[in-house]
This record gives sequence, C-alpha cells and structure tokens, in this order.
Amino acid sequence: MTGTAADLAALLSEARHAIVLTGAGVSTESGIPDFRSAGGLWEEYDPMEVASMRTFMNDPQRFWRFHRPRIDMLASVAPNAAHRAIAELQRRGVLHELITQNIDRLHARAGSEDAIEVHGSLDRGVCLRCDHGVPIDELVALADAAADGVPRCAACGFQMKSGVILFGEMLPDVAINAAYAAAHAADVMLVIGSSLLVAPVSGLPGIVVGGGGRLAILTESETPWDDRCTVRLHGRAGEVMAETLEILTSG
Ligand SMILES: [Zn+2]
Repeated sequence: MTGTAADLAALLSEARHAIVLTGAGVSTESGIPDFRSAGGLWEEYDPMEVASMRTFMNDPQRFWRFHRPRIDMLASVAPNAAHRAIAELQRRGVLHELITQNIDRLHARAGSEDAIEVHGSLDRGVCLRCDHGVPIDELVALADAAADGVPRCAACGFQMKSGVILFGEMLPDVAINAAYAAAHAADVMLVIGSSLLVAPVSGLPGIVVGGGGRLAILTESETPWDDRCTVRLHGRAGEVMAETLEILTSG
C-alpha cells in the first residue's frame, strides 16, 4: 500500500471507470468545520436534536433559529482546490460519478453539476406535506419575511424545510440508487474526506472491492477500509488533488 499523489495519478489513469466519493473533509479547506471536530457548531447544539425531523415538526422556530444562520455561513464560503480538481478530472473523463455526503453545494459551484447528493442538498426548499418546492433563495426570503422566522408553503401553509436530509428523515431514494449503481460500475473508487462510517456511503467500498475494484483513500482520519485500499493518502485534500491533477496533466 503506497501513498503519494503519483500513485493516485497512476491508479486513476489505469482505471476503466473511476468514481469519487467525498465527505466533510473535502470542504474543511473552504472553512466549513467538520461538525464532529472540536469547536464546531455542534458543540453548542445537539445535532440529533436540533437537526432532526422531530424538532422540525414540533418546534419549527427552534429548528429555523439554528438552520437560518447555517445557510448564510455556507453561502459565504468558496470551493477549494480539491473541488476544482475533481471538476476538472470529471471534465477530462478521468473521474466519472461524484457521490457526496456534503450538502454545501461547493462541488456544483466548482463545476461538478451532477453530484449525487446522498444527504440531500441546500439547493432548494421543500414542503413535506404537499411536495411544493422552491429555490433556496426563495426559501430564505420566506424565512426572513416571517415574523417567527419559519418559512411556510405558499400552497398549503405548512412549515418548509431545505432539501438537506434531517436526522430521522428518509434518505433520498434516487440519490442512493444512483450511488449504488455508480459503485457497481466502478473499478476504482477515490474517497476524499469521508471516514466511511455513515450509511449509505459505508456500504459503497464493499461493492467496489467485491466486484474486483480498487480503492484510494485520502482522509486525515482512519477509515475501516485503510488496510484494504491500494493507495492511502493523508495530506490536505486540496494540495493532494491539485498535485494529482498536475501529474495527470504533465504525464
Ligand atoms: Zn405545502
């Protein structure tokens, strides 16, 4: 098992169908704290409580007091070198599907328009009662215009939420199925910034390896797949991916 950007570049250039999976670690260099890290927003709030379906249903004001500033925080950050390198490698056909656990839209802003967002997305607002949907800007405007800070559905009056999947909410079927299909098609999966502990992505490496494929893992923390991957990298995602792109460009 080796671990340089050159090794990663070699693995990707040999691949027939390489896919990439990203988690919170791909966005930390953009200034978005991993919610599990010390000092994160989640130290002040219990995520299981405040970002849950139960709080959304029972206390939408509390839910939106937490959620509204998060939307501004995420809008204020920019994609980093890792997001840009992934988008460029997709454009070149080196990487195919991009699966992400992130809801921050940074992949889309870097040019990866079709990311498979398995934990939902902050691109829209939805009504769980009648399925009415609005763009995220409209959801924010509704929240800001409401006296209690809770955006309400224009069609039925029920409180709205963003497209981000909450604790206790069903994961999005379409995205989950697309992620599994991509894993079945892949002979190489590059994992960036995900500890591979949370469903549904925890099931994806087994599909790739079970089909005879290989894994490359670029994270700061350990993963359950560290001793079964072909390339293991520990550097910063932006630096390593920029270097990998450079090697693939010059080679
Ligand atoms: Zn509605």
